Amino acid sequence: MAERSLRGMSIGAKSLESDQNVDFAARSEVAYVCPKGHRTILPLAEGAEVPQEWECRCGQIAHLEGHDEQESGKTGKPTRTHWDMLLERRSEDELKAVLDKRLKMHREGWFPDYE
Ligand SMILES: [Zn+2]
Repeated sequence: MAERSLRGMSIGAKSLESDQNVDFAARSEVAYVCPKGHRTILPLAEGAEVPQEWECRCGQIAHLEGHDEQESGKTGKPTRTHWDMLLERRSEDELKAVLDKRLKMHREGWFPDYE
């Protein structure tokens, strides 16, 4: 019995991890635009530092695209907030339950830093 529930948990954890990897891979491409309008797509490894500038194939300095996403709307991808990511992992009801529990703990003198 116990063994079965443990196995279930480990499968759940793995699928969460792979979801994250897919998501990071999708977000690891950055675009640079040079003054002449050339666009260079650079694939970046997860956690890699994103340079602000990149030398375009024409020799000009291309600047990181994405600061003005709202203006240009080029990516078409909404920026995901921490809240969005939370909601992907837990339903809103689950979050409410967690919040209620935390609030109750707080009222009872626990501290939220406790995990
Ligand atoms: Zn260029």
